Order: sequence, then structure tokens, then C-alpha cells
Amino acid sequence: MMLESTSQMSFDHLLSSLRRQGSSVFDAFWIPASAGMTIKVIYKIASSTFHMRQIFFTFFLFFFALFPFFLHAQEKIPVHDIYIIHFILDGANADFFHQLLADGKLPTVQKEIVEKGIKFTEAIASFPSVSGANYQSFVTGLFPGHAGIPHLERFDREKNKNIGYLTLSGYRRINDDLINMRSFETGGSLQPSTTIFELLSGHPTASIYSSFYRGASYVAPHFLPMRAIWAAFVSKRTWYVDLLAMRKVFRQFRKQERKLPRYTLVGLIGTDLAGHANGARSKEVEKTLVHFDTQLERFIVLLKKRKLLDKTYIIISSDHGMHDTQKYFALKTRLEKEPFDDLLFVGDRGVASSQIYFKQSLSSEKREKIIETILSYPETELMALRKGEHDAHVIDSSHREATIRCTVNAREKRCSYHAKKDDPLHYCSDATTKIFCDGKFYSLHEWRRAIAHPYFPDTVVQLGHLFASDRSGDIFVIAKPDFGFRKQKAATHGSLRRDDMHIPLLIKGPTISPGTRRFARGVDLYPLLLEWYGLPKPPWTPDGENPL
Ligand SMILES: [Zn+2]
Repeated sequence: MMLESTSQMSFDHLLSSLRRQGSSVFDAFWIPASAGMTIKVIYKIASSTFHMRQIFFTFFLFFFALFPFFLHAQEKIPVHDIYIIHFILDGANADFFHQLLADGKLPTVQKEIVEKGIKFTEAIASFPSVSGANYQSFVTGLFPGHAGIPHLERFDREKNKNIGYLTLSGYRRINDDLINMRSFETGGSLQPSTTIFELLSGHPTASIYSSFYRGASYVAPHFLPMRAIWAAFVSKRTWYVDLLAMRKVFRQFRKQERKLPRYTLVGLIGTDLAGHANGARSKEVEKTLVHFDTQLERFIVLLKKRKLLDKTYIIISSDHGMHDTQKYFALKTRLEKEPFDDLLFVGDRGVASSQIYFKQSLSSEKREKIIETILSYPETELMALRKGEHDAHVIDSSHREATIRCTVNAREKRCSYHAKKDDPLHYCSDATTKIFCDGKFYSLHEWRRAIAHPYFPDTVVQLGHLFASDRSGDIFVIAKPDFGFRKQKAATHGSLRRDDMHIPLLIKGPTISPGTRRFARGVDLYPLLLEWYGLPKPPWTPDGENPL
């Protein structure tokens, strides 16, 4: 790491490292680094000459005297005097959540958020409908393909290895992996300051139980959350996992005013755990959500007591939905038995979509053969194939085919849908989406009405960005509703289906007049947050638009 030896240590080096790390360096790395440094320093002093010692101590005094000054001198962009907290009820199915609300099972959410804020009736996640890809969408305004985070894992074609964001070695990697293809496509850098955390640099921010936190000044948990792991997998008290996260939230909001996090992202994964184990609409999921409701009540009491309620925006959403499954689609093992030596990697995370990467040398005949084979498996529902950076080919198990084409310029993106005879997405036979079947280009705003499609909501827009980065696989395979990859679970997500893609989305805050709205995409929160904070528009155009 950076402090190789004291003689190599320089301010420039240190400060540029700090800048690269964001202020989270103090939480994630400063303490172990300083401990390591102390040992090295003591060793050096003991073995140095008198002259060296003088130089050294002068430097050290200068370093510690001025270091806090450098920190506080860190550029801090002025923002409105507000706080935003986003609770992600990970994996909560939108229909089930709305049903619980209607049945009066979530009284605090109903009274404090729905009645005083805005409920979106048709909000949608980003595809793939999995956590990492969607947490990042909320914080960057980028679709997963534009963020270089194509799924729960990605195959690194250069290093010839898989990077799994749900593995012990890879769960922090998602933060380093973030790139910004929207900025790059329009002449900017691949790594501009992008995340809300980065834009609020210098202000306190918090990421709690979220693996995505790039730029956050407080990240919890630091190390393996043993109690949460025990509760999740041994005692199976999913609500307790969320309680541990909420305790961190309370701790943050009990701090002195200048240390209160301006932005807090909270991952409440209890719902996802309960859903996978027991079913998307199970009693266990209900219990976990009801428990959240009681925690929310306590949180609102705290905000009132601290006179913060009038300047706090509260967002409640899930990151993706969930649907019940029963069976297992052994795509990876099946393909390994086929005589294909051009497959670089076949993903098998335990969700309902999977990516396949081809070797570059693959001929078009072999490609056709592989596609035909996958389509012949009875578990396959649909495949999305790479056609170009903003183009995709869609084919279903009945060989219905369509092409999605998108054009991108600095200001906007437009997409078209062109089906051969019968269309695989059933857009041309549905009243809400019929108008798009003329093959013409429509803006992402115009495409919003496709969010209401009963089976494949917003699929054209969602697939139109997926291949923007070559980190995505060459094929995405979507399993039929009954099936999930890797192992049997009571419920899963990850597909393009309504149950997986639709999310609850509620917002409440100082400038919000109560009511309902119809459409919103997960990426739309980002421009909304920028507006609430009074932050300047970035030099690149986010994928989302302000949904209000
Ligand atoms: Zn899950």
C-alpha cells in the first residue's frame, strides 16, 4: 500500500491517494495504515543517525500539525440545509408491499410517508434486477451497462478471471469497478466524480449495509458483520439483520449536528433473505417489513425530537422485486457438457438471469449453434444478444425475434424496437406499448409508458444500454418464471419480468406535496437528489430524469 517506507512518503502522494480513496479512507484504511506506519517509523528512528532523526522529527511535526488543516481545506461544495435518507427494502416485491400497505400492516409508512409524500404506482428497477447493479443506479443515475457493473459478477476478459461482487474477495470491488460510460461517450473521462457520496465530498455521508459506497465518509460494517451473518443464515431472524442496520442509522442521527450525514443509504437485506428462503409473499417477508415499519416510527420520533424532520427527505424503495420459483436451471453444467470450446465464462449466480461470455475467435456459425442449443433448453424464456454498444437482439424460446437500437448523444438517448413478424416482448399486441411497434426512435421519456407493460416492463430501454461496456457478457439468458440458476430457492429475481423489475418507491420531504405519480425508474432518483441538494448539473447526462 501507499506507505511503503517513510522516506518515500510524500504529501503529494498521500493527498492524491486520499483524493482517490475519497474521505472514506479514514474509515476503511487510515487506521490500519497508520498502525503499520507507526511500526515502520519506530524501526526507522531507532536505526537512523542523529541528523536523520532531526529531519525526520521536523517532518513529522509538520505533517501532524498541518494534516487536519489539509483535511478541512478539502473542497466542500455548498448544499441546501437538508438531509436525505434512502431505505432500500432489498428484494421487496412491489405488489406485495402495496398490498401490505392497503391492508394497514405498515401504518407508519402509510401515515408518515404515503399520506405526507408521493407514492409512485409504477416504479421500476434497472435490469439485471439484482442488488449491486441497482444500488449503484440510485447513487449514480447510470444504468448498469453504463456503470460497467453488468450483474452480480463480471468476467474480466483481459485477466481471464471472474469477479464476483457477492464473494468475500470481491464484495468491495464494485466500488472500484464503477465507470461512467455516459461521460466517456460524450467526450469526458471514464471516472468523473459521479456518486452522490463523491459529489457531497467534504460533507458527512453514510453508507450502511450497502456494498456500494464509493465516496461515503462513513461506511458500516467495516468488517464481516458476524452477527448479521449469524442472524441471516443460522438463527434465520431476517428482521434482526435489519435491526442491526437500523442501530447504525440511529447512531448516525444521534450525532452532533455538524456530523449528521447529509446523505444516508441504508440496505435492509432482511426482505431479500426472507424472500429467497420462504417465498416472495411469505409470512417471513411480511414480518420483516412490519418490523421495518416499527423502526421507521422510532426513527421519525428521533427526527422530530432533534427538529430534523422538516428538513429531511425520506425515500423508501426496494432495489428489485422477487418472484416465486421451484426449480433449478443447470445452465452452466449443461453447457459444459456440450462440445463448445469458445465459451469463456458462463455465469451461475442464484438468480433468474445469467451472462455468457464468448472467446473473440468465435465464428458466426458456432455462435448460432450455441444460441440454438440454449434456446432448445426448456427452461429458457428469452435471450438478449449483443449487437452493438447500444443495440441488442432479443429472441425467445419460440424463435420470435426483435432488434433494439438506441442512439446516444450528449443530451439524450432514443431507442427503437423492430420485431420480425411476432414479437418476443409482446409489445405489439398490448395497448400500452403498441405505438412503439412502428420501428421509429422514441426518447427514454416517451418509452416510460412501457413501464406499465404487464409482462416485460421497460425492456427496450433496459436492454438498450446493457452492452455499452464490453464488461457485459455477449448473451444474457433469462430463465422461465419457475426456474433459477445455481440452486433451488423459494423465490428469486434477476429477470426482466414485472415481479422482479417493479419496485415500491415512496418519497417524502420538505418540498414534496402529497400525491401519487405514475412512472419512475431507479436511475431517476439521482437527478432528483441533485436538485434537492442544489448541486450543479454534472457535465455528463445521467440516464435518469427528474420524475416529479
Ligand atoms: Zn436476492
